[in-house]
Amino acid sequence: MANPLSLPKYSIGVGDRFAHQAKAQLRACILAAERGVEIVPVWNKSNREHAIVGSEPSGTRKAADAAVQALGWHKPYFVDADHINLKTVERFLAPCDFFTIDVADLIGQPAQETAVERFVAAHPELIGNGHIPGVPRSFQTSLDFVVQTASKYLAAVEEAGRIYRYIADRKGAGSFIPEVSMDETDSPQTPIELLIILAAISAERIPIQTIAPKFTGRFNKGVDYEGDLAKFSQEISDDIEVIAYAAERYELPSNLKLSVHSGSDKFSIYRPIREAMRKFDTGVHLKTAGTTWLEELIGLAEAGGDGLALAKEIYAEAYAHRQELCAPYAAVIDIDPSKLPAPQEVNAWSSAQFVSALRHDPNSPAYNSSIRQLLHVGFKIAAKMGDCYLRLLSEMEDTVAKNVTTNLFDRHIMPLFLED
Ligand SMILES: [Zn+2]
Repeated sequence: MANPLSLPKYSIGVGDRFAHQAKAQLRACILAAERGVEIVPVWNKSNREHAIVGSEPSGTRKAADAAVQALGWHKPYFVDADHINLKTVERFLAPCDFFTIDVADLIGQPAQETAVERFVAAHPELIGNGHIPGVPRSFQTSLDFVVQTASKYLAAVEEAGRIYRYIADRKGAGSFIPEVSMDETDSPQTPIELLIILAAISAERIPIQTIAPKFTGRFNKGVDYEGDLAKFSQEISDDIEVIAYAAERYELPSNLKLSVHSGSDKFSIYRPIREAMRKFDTGVHLKTAGTTWLEELIGLAEAGGDGLALAKEIYAEAYAHRQELCAPYAAVIDIDPSKLPAPQEVNAWSSAQFVSALRHDPNSPAYNSSIRQLLHVGFKIAAKMGDCYLRLLSEMEDTVAKNVTTNLFDRHIMPLFLED
């Protein structure tokens, strides 16, 4: 195919719930470019977020295009239909050029026996004990394990193939970046499972450029990683090695890379990811999302006056509705209810107190991860406020935008892509 659209080595997924921060987000990429590193922005927003906010994917496209034009960005950028499936993809088709094909729900759905047999027969290189020339021993496993893994994942990969072909038939192959995501599931995929999944994806002829597995440890919304860092470091390094090997062996696109669905703000895993990227001279796609919405709140609180009052109102509402707000995200938040101050208490806070409780500075004693997670999932409250919220965002744009840019650049881009 002619000049297929290609995702550059370093890319960052920026979520923008209310489509007001595209410029502020793009500025973070411009700061990186000024330091000589190309990091391309990908505006991602899932169907669930559009449904909660009441927005359309075309709005995300419009905001991205406007920001790119206003700031004169001449490098690539993308709009990601995040976590779509056959039921939800339709309205994303025209405005998006990046599709995160989510098949996590089909993991474990038993594959057809004949499909498993076919897969096993086609992949003798996966089975054995290091006898096949050119196949590292660590990339081989037992016949039983290949059968078991194929049975667990083939139905999901076949569905990914159907979704990919549906999009390709409508948009044209090569005119969008396909990603396959399996992160929203209970158990992590090991590197050898990832290899088997990639072999299956290749057989389905999906030219994926990014793959999003589920990693070991907890990726709670808006707060840092919880888990065994040494284990994660080994896993990420193995995953990246597997991807490089699979891209060549199974003739997947040579720029195939890992997509880390971070849930935002996984600061402590940035160093291991950076080290693994350097070791294998490869890139990564880092998806962040709700961190921008929290920076909006921080900016409003910092601006004081009506902004602070609105931030307090949003907290009070989120506190009152905490059960229903948290339920859909139960697997990805860990809130300690005893750490949530009563709204009366928060109402007495100064601007600085509100900001320091919410801002993700792990070294600050005032930082409160329970408040942060609650507000992370509380964007529905702001969505319900509609114009009242959006009007203040515009009025206080300077303070808000400064927080959005600084957060993305200082806390995400710098440690992951720029620091030595
Ligand atoms: Zn995800």
